[in-house]
Amino acid sequence: MRVHWRRTPGTHNTRVVLAAALERAGFILEECDGPTDSVTCYSLNQVNLPGLLREMASADCITIAGGPSASARWEEVMRIADYVVVGEGEWTLPRLLEMIEEGRDEPVPGTATSAHGRVPSDHSVILDAYPAFARGRGFIECTRGCPHSCAFCQTSRLFPGGMRHRSLDACMQASRHLSDIRFVTPNAFSYGSDGRTPRFEKVRRLLTHLSRTDARIWFGTFPSEVRPEFVTDTALELITGYCANRRLHFGIQSGSDRVLERLGRGHTVADGLRAVERTLDHGLVPVVDLILGFPFETDEEQAETVALAVDLAGRGCQLHVHGFLPLPGTPLAGLPPRPPIAAARRVIGRLALAGKATGSLELLG
Ligand code: SF4
Repeated sequence: MRVHWRRTPGTHNTRVVLAAALERAGFILEECDGPTDSVTCYSLNQVNLPGLLREMASADCITIAGGPSASARWEEVMRIADYVVVGEGEWTLPRLLEMIEEGRDEPVPGTATSAHGRVPSDHSVILDAYPAFARGRGFIECTRGCPHSCAFCQTSRLFPGGMRHRSLDACMQASRHLSDIRFVTPNAFSYGSDGRTPRFEKVRRLLTHLSRTDARIWFGTFPSEVRPEFVTDTALELITGYCANRRLHFGIQSGSDRVLERLGRGHTVADGLRAVERTLDHGLVPVVDLILGFPFETDEEQAETVALAVDLAGRGCQLHVHGFLPLPGTPLAGLPPRPPIAAARRVIGRLALAGKATGSLELLG
């Protein structure tokens, strides 16, 4: 049975991760640019979902949808796709393909179909059980899951099995043949920990071993950002001592402590500013995420975020400013964003023109 992967922007890493899991089960994942016989797999996100749903609706092959938006909106997606993989795919997808290949029509845990509805998952993926990637290179996912459950974020809901780490040996194995080693993790400094209390000795061990290879190490920068309260002198010395990046990327998200509390961020604005100062002290450029337009945000709270943006830019930070996006599966799903106040458009636009901010076009344009 031939199994295809619908090529779409932003889904490369998911493809190589799943390709590794499928190879273990004897399936080869081939890329395609449209529905292709026998089975075509789709990874749906907020951006590509409408177009790919239309494509699947007229596909004349078996379609399997997964990814963040398919997982969160499985009821809607299963009316169009033949199968929806809800949540992690490494174990579920090969199991599903085996069932299809054998011509059986049974409920598979971790899937949703119009025939069987949603069948709850019966497992949680152990990262070491699968190679990091196959049929192409990718980022090494060193950690999966996050205990913080910020109200706007899908990560904790997509990966409910708690925080899991790839072992040092498995990370070393994955790094072979890479000239640049990059990681996927919700918080690079949480490697080896419960996600709340750092275990920097584990991070140090990882970076020490990787630094014995010829590759450059990128850690704490996209796609392995960190949380502000993990930005300590010890953490920063690990970046300056072992890594190629001269930037450190973390989210403060809002200039209002009340908003941060409602989001369940688990840190304050002051924690964010401390992280900025420490990062600068170590000669690194802080790259800071801010979000404007939360549904419950008042004009005054937006103004606090705008003032924080100006303050941060003045200190030498690079800013990523985005309008709030209500992601499916989160507590804020379906709630309309508040439009940015006039000062936000004006000030963030000015920072963008000065090269100090990037972000969502509707806010910066
Ligand atoms: S800390 Fe980051 S990854 Fe974790 S829930 Fe919050 S935004 Fe998501």
